[in-house]
Amino acid sequence: MHAQLLTAARRPLVAAELPAPRPGPEQLLIAVRACAVCRTDLHVVDGELGDPKLPLIPGHEIIGTVVEKGEAAERFAIGDRVGVPWLGWTCGICEYCRGGQENLCDRARFTGYQIDGGYAELTVADERYCFAIDPHYGDVEAAPLMCAGLIGYRTLRMAGDARLVGIYGFGAAAHIVAQVARHQGRRFFAFTRPGDVAAQDFARSLGAEWAGDSTAPPPEPLDAALIFAPVGALVPAALAATRKGGAVVCGGIHMSDIPSFPYRILWEERAVRSVANLTRRDAEEFLALAPKAGVRTETVTYPLAEANRALADLRRGALQGAAVLVP
Ligand SMILES: [Zn+2]
Ligand SMILES: [Zn+2]
Repeated sequence: MHAQLLTAARRPLVAAELPAPRPGPEQLLIAVRACAVCRTDLHVVDGELGDPKLPLIPGHEIIGTVVEKGEAAERFAIGDRVGVPWLGWTCGICEYCRGGQENLCDRARFTGYQIDGGYAELTVADERYCFAIDPHYGDVEAAPLMCAGLIGYRTLRMAGDARLVGIYGFGAAAHIVAQVARHQGRRFFAFTRPGDVAAQDFARSLGAEWAGDSTAPPPEPLDAALIFAPVGALVPAALAATRKGGAVVCGGIHMSDIPSFPYRILWEERAVRSVANLTRRDAEEFLALAPKAGVRTETVTYPLAEANRALADLRRGALQGAAVLVP
């Protein structure tokens, strides 16, 4: 099978011809139809997330068709369409797994990081961490739901019942979260890189009441802020824009250092927290909600062989919506 392979951090992916993987007892062999490109892939390729499996097939927003099953796999049939997310395996016995926080499992393994992912024609995945995909969605359109959608949804949930949400970094996750927020009757403002008029227009087209530079104060204080850009300086900026008692939720897996800031912008019971990974419950909830909420995804497709170009476009912030690789 064709695959795009990371052989060392900070090196371009290389095209490789590999033998087809074999499914283990509880695994599915999946013919990949589409795999979205996540900022986390960029963090792995750029060496900002340490110790990936090497060589590695990246990619954790996979949509594909089951072509073979391990002998103990029984949740799906041959020919079923499934989605494969970032959370690839958990131990089931640590205190986090037993306490409903499998996203924090001590021994969790992640797709496209410690497990080969979807930048390939075929992949294998543990069926317990795979999901059925609503037939409303095409393969390409569904791919960004598997991480941008899921992590975005968990991030929004951490904002509690905030009515006015500020979204910092208006890329793949934000454009999905914005639609869910609107469906839930929330209002939202969008904050982009200074001068990124195209992203601000994109946000307004999805219902942002106000869109502006991340350095600009919003027209009214936020109930909560969601940060999807990997820029630590946005944390104090978002705190300063958030009302008393509000929360700033960081949705990314990696961020540049957060600069020091005066205590007074945290005081009055503001909170800063992060979101890590996802649980299978998040996925079940979000994948049921997305079609009801009418969530559509904006995508830019690339042939699998052009994975490096997709990563480069994401790195320089040239995308509105999500990059999706198609084998
Ligand atoms: Zn565990
Ligand atoms: Zn991701």
